[in-house]
Amino acid sequence: MGTWSTGTDEFTCKCGARYKAHYKDFPERDKGTFNCTLCGEEVHSWKGTRDYMKWELMVPE
Ligand SMILES: [Zn+2]
Repeated sequence: MGTWSTGTDEFTCKCGARYKAHYKDFPERDKGTFNCTLCGEEVHSWKGTRDYMKWELMVPE
């Protein structure tokens, strides 16, 4: 039982690309990384109980 918190977070790559990611706090520790789909640089890495998923590129208007 228990409530897992979820939400969204925003990250900016070195190349200027902006991403929105959904996160969820899991009871188990996990780790991962996300690399920019445009330049290949690492945008964010995480380790712990918060897992990120559903990365979306935020296209500037
Ligand atoms: Zn990039």
